[in-house]
Amino acid sequence: MCGIIGYAGNKDAPEVVLKGLKKLEYRGYDSWGIITGNFDLVKNIGKIGHIQRHDLNLRVHTLAIGHTRWSTHGGVTLENAHPHLSQDKSIAVVHNGIIENYQQLKAMLQKEGFVFVSETDTEVIPHLLQKYYKETQDFKKAFKKMLNKIDGSYAILAIQKGNRGIYFARNGSPLVLGVGKNEYFVASDVPAFLEYSNQVIFLEDNQYGTIGTEEIGKEIQIFDLKTHKKIISNIQTINWKLEEAEKGNEPHFMIKEIKEQQETIRKSVEQSSETFAKTVSMIKDARGVFLIGCGTSYHACLSASYQFAHLAKMHINVVLASEFRNYTSFLNSKSLIIAVSQSGETADVIDAIKIAKEKMVKVLSIVNVKGSTIERLSDHCINMQAGPEICVVSTKAYTAELAILSLLALTLTEKIEDARKKILENISCLPRLIEENTIKLKKLAEKIKNQKSIFIIGRDIAYPAALEGALKIKEVSYIHAEGFAGGELKHGTIALIEKGTPCIILATPETRNLIISNAMEIKARGGFIIGIDQEENNVYDETIIIPNSGCGNALILTIPLQILAYHLAVARGCDVDKPRNLAKSVTVK
Ligand code: GLU
Repeated sequence: MCGIIGYAGNKDAPEVVLKGLKKLEYRGYDSWGIITGNFDLVKNIGKIGHIQRHDLNLRVHTLAIGHTRWSTHGGVTLENAHPHLSQDKSIAVVHNGIIENYQQLKAMLQKEGFVFVSETDTEVIPHLLQKYYKETQDFKKAFKKMLNKIDGSYAILAIQKGNRGIYFARNGSPLVLGVGKNEYFVASDVPAFLEYSNQVIFLEDNQYGTIGTEEIGKEIQIFDLKTHKKIISNIQTINWKLEEAEKGNEPHFMIKEIKEQQETIRKSVEQSSETFAKTVSMIKDARGVFLIGCGTSYHACLSASYQFAHLAKMHINVVLASEFRNYTSFLNSKSLIIAVSQSGETADVIDAIKIAKEKMVKVLSIVNVKGSTIERLSDHCINMQAGPEICVVSTKAYTAELAILSLLALTLTEKIEDARKKILENISCLPRLIEENTIKLKKLAEKIKNQKSIFIIGRDIAYPAALEGALKIKEVSYIHAEGFAGGELKHGTIALIEKGTPCIILATPETRNLIISNAMEIKARGGFIIGIDQEENNVYDETIIIPNSGCGNALILTIPLQILAYHLAVARGCDVDKPRNLAKSVTVK
């Protein structure tokens, strides 16, 4: 998955595109490239980071497209970086996604004499465009023909020498248009151009079109790829504030987003009661509910399943989205899946939804990005309201999704107003918790930053929190970390405990006695015991005191782990907001 952006308007397009790419870098950062309307081209390996406009050897122009890459086909090389050019260098393309039939197309084009300079799947697109333009002498027709030829997922932008428009298409990868005053944007995500416009059109799959080609009043043209009919789309106003997509005074987005959580949880549960009422009735009517997600969202699902069991006495199946296909024999028109994804574009979740839909299963989703594929595939969707999450490692989206799921579990047996109040009261301790523990967690990070492994254990709702905490540490600090249910460590992994191995104990009032016994077992083998608990205990070598937050404990327990992961990453000199090998939304299976 990559970030793409195009601009057509009166401003200096390379500058707009450069700024946009910086905002989209969370989607991929192997390499980047920009091309302008007069085909000045710049490509580079690595992150776009601190590149400034004057560093770019690009003349001022009113049209440009750009790309920040997360490679799927072909290594991280300058040749593989986008934009890709047609053989005659008259057409340039940026692409997010995978062209599944590129091998056949490449073979066909090679037979016709086209020479490929990259190993990417993308390069077939500009060559196809050149071929079809030669045949039709009409770039729009050539673009349409090319789209009919390629299979797979894509968001594509293409420009042609001497043509004043940007041609775009979407199928399976996100693409959104921004509408300004006599200026137009097209990008993978809204923050890329939010500085200039909050008027957006979310494109749907199988739509293509142009910006900037026609006379005033017709600058945006959108068509349906199947019918070729013109589409009139609604312009929506995005209420995200620009500051939400900026770091402000914080050194990294990760810590900014950790600190925002009281506010984002509040927004997530304070949405209209009707939204939740509809959801609750879908859950009540269902016979067989499946919570599905990947990575962090899977942990939120797992945590919520405990809440549904405890608070609503309801069994919910929790399945990793990528494994969901194994459950097809248990699906029918009475089943319900609750699909959770920050980006709303997670390929494994989309796949699971498609499998479910074949069996007439109802789909409820919880997503953060408006207008996403998952939202559009669902019968009903709750938006997380977490605002843009820029750090690749998820923190505030995790707590927003878990807060929404907790609210749903509570609302199955009590009034929504009471449930909402309960959650908000329980998390009101959050700012103080962060403030009081940050220095301690920072010192702890310094102490354990060179350890080769960290273990985290918890029982009951502290178990998913342990899994999520371990994932945070791995993602951002590259230290091997594993989360376990308290009772499990002794069934094998305890063999890895050596003198000084850090082991974090997540305690709740309900689980304390048993988890302390597990902590003793580890201490007896030399483990360095860190307690995250509501009280001190002799077994702990270090303690982080957290308040007892009742049904909010599942949320609260993860916060110190997020902060610890952050400081471990900083102490180890890692790139906090853009960890290696990762990208924000995983749009490949
Ligand atoms: N498949 C293209 C490449 O490897 C685009 C990558 C992506 O969107 O992730 O360059």
